[in-house]
Amino acid sequence: MAFDVDLFVIGGGSGGVRAARIAAAEGGARVALAEESRMGGTCVIRGCVPKKLMVFASDFPTQIADARAYGWDVQPGAFDWTRFRAALEAELSRLEAAYRGTLAGAGVQVHDTRATVEDAHAVRLATGERITAKHILIATGGRPFVPDIPGADLAVTSNEMFHLPALPRRALVVGGGYIASEFAGILHGLGVQTTQYYRGAQILRGFDDEARGHVSNAMQAAGIAIHCGTDVLRLERTPGGIRAVATDGTEREFDLVLYATGRRPNSAGLGLEALGVELGRHGEVVVDDWSQTAVPSIHAVGDVTNRVNLTPVAIREGHAFADTVFRGVPTKFDHCLIASAVFTRPELGTVGLSEEAARALGPIEVYAATFRPMQTLFAGRQDRVLMKLVVDAASRKVLGCHIVGPGAGEMIQLAAIPIGMGATKEDFDRTVAVHPTMAEELVTMRKPVRTG
Ligand code: NDP
Repeated sequence: MAFDVDLFVIGGGSGGVRAARIAAAEGGARVALAEESRMGGTCVIRGCVPKKLMVFASDFPTQIADARAYGWDVQPGAFDWTRFRAALEAELSRLEAAYRGTLAGAGVQVHDTRATVEDAHAVRLATGERITAKHILIATGGRPFVPDIPGADLAVTSNEMFHLPALPRRALVVGGGYIASEFAGILHGLGVQTTQYYRGAQILRGFDDEARGHVSNAMQAAGIAIHCGTDVLRLERTPGGIRAVATDGTEREFDLVLYATGRRPNSAGLGLEALGVELGRHGEVVVDDWSQTAVPSIHAVGDVTNRVNLTPVAIREGHAFADTVFRGVPTKFDHCLIASAVFTRPELGTVGLSEEAARALGPIEVYAATFRPMQTLFAGRQDRVLMKLVVDAASRKVLGCHIVGPGAGEMIQLAAIPIGMGATKEDFDRTVAVHPTMAEELVTMRKPVRTG
């Protein structure tokens, strides 16, 4: 049977765009892609990119204070949110255009509309057009999830954070994950009085306990009011703002309430279940190691599959799919040892196993150093950096690396290479330090702080 295209991709985010480009440009496939929102997806339009630019913006008050300590005669000024927001929007438009350019350059036909799956080999566009495809790739990403509490409609999600009409004076962030903790830091840095409620005992569940504690202590020392073991019972509109009635018996008033309580896959209404594509408990598209669904012509990559919800992972999954199906190079993406960074202040970079997870597998040695880095020490700040290696006592392999401090995201990217190659503690020790840096601690820690 002749199909209109070889591949139809639903979703123009990181995973979908990579798969479309590789299939078309390197696999010689005829490819079409539909995106109902802006091209670039969560990462570019309402996630990683604008978030990180906001992190940069939020860093300046500290940098200005440090500059004064270094002898510069500079004064902190007011932050102009409207001006920043306009510049941010311009940058996102530039990136969106770049994504479009990439697709056009690869010869991908773009449809700026919603598409749903009609059968195993056909999609229906919102315009009414029907397009047949040999393969269909679902790359529709995810969206913020807000629990169903009274007054939930008074809260915003990360989607709205980049378009706020004005910065609030007092903000409540609900949640303890990546997004909540990052936005707590951003808001605080931009001068907003910031409170964070997290239902569990310590924010950043799943990360190394010592690293979580280090980040949490530093955030609180900076002035963010973190309340663990606290959740919102209901939100109420008041003449002056939004009242949050909490499980700890308090009622506090805020101007903005941000819910960052996880994300859910965008799989509803695509027509998948009717075709026999299996959806999981949270609506995730269930796929095998090849990102293939129960319907052989339909694959899915990225957040809609709820495996590891990170942009570079979606890109690798999309690339592996295109290599396998269109380039004749069967490729599985290995989800082990994925490094990531949380852009809190201080930043947390992590790869491999936490101390707790490693200890559960067998005897370990833990090497850790906390110290005040020279740059901020000179400026009179108390900030401490944490460098930590978790080592398997028997094989000597470094199982995990956890860094808290300025540039942790940059450092962990490099640490991920030897750890991915199976480097031992002795390989780290053999490496000559680069001095004076923070990262040199990774190769100069001689004695374990804990064993067993
Ligand atoms: P996470 O899953 O990381 O965190 C969700 C948080 O919300 C957790 O603290 C969770 O608590 C809490 N929570 C969940 N449900 C409820 C509820 N009903 N009531 C109260 N609290 C609740 O999700 P995020 O939204 O922060 O981020 C989504 C994903 O996006 C991340 O997992 C990550 O993969 C990705 N991301 C990556 C970033 C990066 O690489 N820097 C940045 C931002 C996002 P509990 O711990 O108790 O379950």
